[in-house]
Amino acid sequence: MKRRDFVKGALAAGAAVSFTGCTREMIEGKKSVNIARRKKVKLKIATSWPANFPIMGTGVDRFAEKVKAMSGGTLEIKVYPKNILVPALAVFDATSSGQIDGFHSGPYYWKGKNPAFALFSGLPLGMVASELNCWMNYGGGYELWRELYGRYNLYPFMGGNTGVQMGGWFRKPIGSLADLKGLKMRIPGLGGEVMAKLGVNPILLPAGEIYTALERGTIDATEWVGPALDIRMGFYKVAPYYYTGWHEPGSILEITFNKARFESLGDEHRAILHYAAESMNSEMYHEFMDQNARALEKLKKVGVKIYDFPPEVIAAAKKAVQQVVAEQSAESDDFKRVYASMEAYYRLIKPWTDISEARYLAIR
Ligand code: CA
Repeated sequence: MKRRDFVKGALAAGAAVSFTGCTREMIEGKKSVNIARRKKVKLKIATSWPANFPIMGTGVDRFAEKVKAMSGGTLEIKVYPKNILVPALAVFDATSSGQIDGFHSGPYYWKGKNPAFALFSGLPLGMVASELNCWMNYGGGYELWRELYGRYNLYPFMGGNTGVQMGGWFRKPIGSLADLKGLKMRIPGLGGEVMAKLGVNPILLPAGEIYTALERGTIDATEWVGPALDIRMGFYKVAPYYYTGWHEPGSILEITFNKARFESLGDEHRAILHYAAESMNSEMYHEFMDQNARALEKLKKVGVKIYDFPPEVIAAAKKAVQQVVAEQSAESDDFKRVYASMEAYYRLIKPWTDISEARYLAIR
């Protein structure tokens, strides 16, 4: 290395050290902590997904790697896939009690604790991922989510988004509203409640049992996520009618911490978790888009055809969403408040989405 290059390199390295090593307090001459000298902190996080689960599971592993790198190794996150440390759907309680420090999952799994939590996953026929991100950050969504989760000693961040989910796999085509009557469909959450108003019998099944139930005709249809994850389940082999989506237009995933534990961390570590979560939120959404596009190509190659629900089904679903919202709002003040905030934001953002992206997508 030439001497001049060495000096330049040393200067750059020195600048980097002083930049990352100083907090505002140090610069201002107050008492401070150098991140490089900070005591090593280890956090235990559990997920609701199996080990190496594509996109959702692998994304959390990358989040942990990023946090370690950004913190210079002073903040380490150990990720436990489902059922290793706690059962898949016990992660909320385990984090609330402080048994573990955080979890990656989806807010609608906790609607039994508070019906309003389902809304933090999005609303059938409501906002898409980009609009939900805006509502969270600039429309009061985060304030409400953190207030309601605060009652459980939890501090949530968005940690991914599936984008628009597909409407599901059907054994027979849906030509009219009448074709839905009495249909047994695996569909959870608010989408299932809306489908129930359309005459569907919504059923919950563990992931491992869906394919066999569909193959044997124990159920007539199932939704899952989108092409990327659906293709791995093999549903196209037994229920060839694949419908476009409306019931989960942008399901938010969460990375949630024990609130007291999160607040006990230093400013730098909290900032690192904040930006690593932001990054995971965006990366997971884009990875879903990319993987869905690739899987759609494969599904088309094996002859899968894509269908839209008839307009009368969508019109009935819109009415049913309003009924479900009215019923839940009457039962829960929290649901009513969160829905009101969402609805107000939807009224604000929709006119802009309509004349920007929607208009452009229709003409390109
Ligand atoms: Ca789904």
